[in-house]
Amino acid sequence: MLIVQKYGGTSVGNCERINNITQKIIKAKKAGHQVVVVVSAMSGDTDKLVQFIQYFQHTDYPIPNPRESDVVLSSGEQITRALVAIALESQGYKAISLSGKEAGIITDGIHTKARIEQIQTDKIINLLQEDYIVIVAGFQGATTKGATTTLGRGGSDLSAVAIAGAIQADVCEIYTDVDGVYTTDPRIEPQAKKLDKISYEEMLELASMGAKVLLNRSVEMAKKLNVNLITRNSFNDNEGTLITSEENIMEQPIVSGVALDKNQARISISNLNDEPGIAAKIFESLSAHNINVDMIVQTIGRDGKTDLDFTIPKTEIALTQQILKDFSHLYDQIDCDYNIAKVSIVGVGMKSHSGVASSCFSAMAKENINIMMIGTSEIKISMIISDEYAQTAVRALHKTYNLDR
Ligand code: ADP
Ligand code: ASP
Ligand code: MG
Repeated sequence: MLIVQKYGGTSVGNCERINNITQKIIKAKKAGHQVVVVVSAMSGDTDKLVQFIQYFQHTDYPIPNPRESDVVLSSGEQITRALVAIALESQGYKAISLSGKEAGIITDGIHTKARIEQIQTDKIINLLQEDYIVIVAGFQGATTKGATTTLGRGGSDLSAVAIAGAIQADVCEIYTDVDGVYTTDPRIEPQAKKLDKISYEEMLELASMGAKVLLNRSVEMAKKLNVNLITRNSFNDNEGTLITSEENIMEQPIVSGVALDKNQARISISNLNDEPGIAAKIFESLSAHNINVDMIVQTIGRDGKTDLDFTIPKTEIALTQQILKDFSHLYDQIDCDYNIAKVSIVGVGMKSHSGVASSCFSAMAKENINIMMIGTSEIKISMIISDEYAQTAVRALHKTYNLDR
C-alpha cells in the first residue's frame, strides 16, 4: 500500500516524541508499505513565529509584509521535517526530507493563506521508488516563481490530504493528540464520545465551525479527491475515526456533534447608509482581500440608516478595520467585539427532522444564555454567544442531543 501519515504539532513536540512517531512510521515500512510522512511544526512554535512578526506591527504598519511573513511562518516545519529524517536514519532507515517547494507543492501567491494549485509528484514518486521514506514539511508550498507560501493555520492537514490525493495513496492517516473525531472537543466535554465513522459532509461542517481536529479545507479536498481519511492518536494504537461518504454510515443520529469556535470576532457597523449596493461594495472589498466573512445580520432600516453586523476570524481584524476606513463616509461608527464564541450543532439527520432549532434555542434559554446571531445550513445550526458561556453552551447542547450516550 501507499500510505500518507501526517503528524501534528504535539506528536512532534520534542525529540522524544519524534523518536516515538518513528516507531509508527517504521512499522508501516516494515509491513511493506511505501510511506510519505507530512509533519507540522513542534506545538507552539508557529504561535511563537506569529508573535515575532506581530512585534513589528503598529498602526502605521498594520499588515507586516506577507511574503516575508511566510518565510518566518514556514520555518517551524523546516526543523521537524529534517529531525524526523535524522531520527529515521539514526535507526538505519533510508529517509529524506523535502520542503513544500521541493515536494512540488505549487500554490497561488496569496501569502499566509495560499491555495494549492497543483502538486508535481515526480520527486516524491521517484524517491519512494528508490525505497526512501519521504518526509514533507506541511503547511508550506511555493509559487511558480519560487516564493515560499503558507496555507493558513492548521494547513498541514491540507498538505497531507493534497499529497495523498495527488500520489493516489491508499490511505491518509492524520495522527494527532486525541483518539479521533469526538462528538465534541473532549477537552471541553469529558463525556464526549469518539466516533468510529463520520461523513465528509458532517466533518466539513464541524471543522468549519471550529473542531480543529481536522482543517476544513482538508476535508473538502479529501471528499473531492476521494481520499480515505482516518484520524488517529499518535500516542496509542487505538482505532481512529474514518471520514467517509454518507452511504457508508448505517444509522445517522439527528445531531452528530457540537463545535466551538473562539477565533471569531464581531464587527458592528452602525448607522450605515441604507441604499442598494452598499453591502455589496463592502463585502466585495473584504472578499478581494480574502477575508472570510461568516455570519451576517442587518437590522431593518430606519430613516435611511441601518446597522450591519458580521463575524470574521480574529486574525483579520486589523485588515478589516483598514478596509472599512474606505467606507467611513457611509457610516457613523465601527465596533469590534472580541469576546464572542460560536457554538454549532451538526448532523445530516437534521435534513429530515423538524424541531431541532427550537430544542437548540431552548437549551440556551435554560442556561440563561443570550443568542446574539444565528446562522443555519441544511445540516447545521450556529449561534454567536458571549464567550464566557462557551463551555456551558457546548455541554448543554451535548446533553440535549444525548451525545454522551
Ligand atoms: P494537531 O497539532 O495534531 O494538528 P490540533 O490541535 O490541530 O492537533 O487538533 C487536535 C485537537 O482538536 C484536539 O486536541 C482537540 O482538543 C481538538 N478538537 C476540537 N474538536 C474536536 C472533536 N470534535 N474531536 C476531536 N478533537 C477535537
Ligand atoms: N504549524 C502550522 C500551524 O500551527 C500548521 C499546522 O500545524 O497544521 O498552524
Ligand atoms: Mg491541526
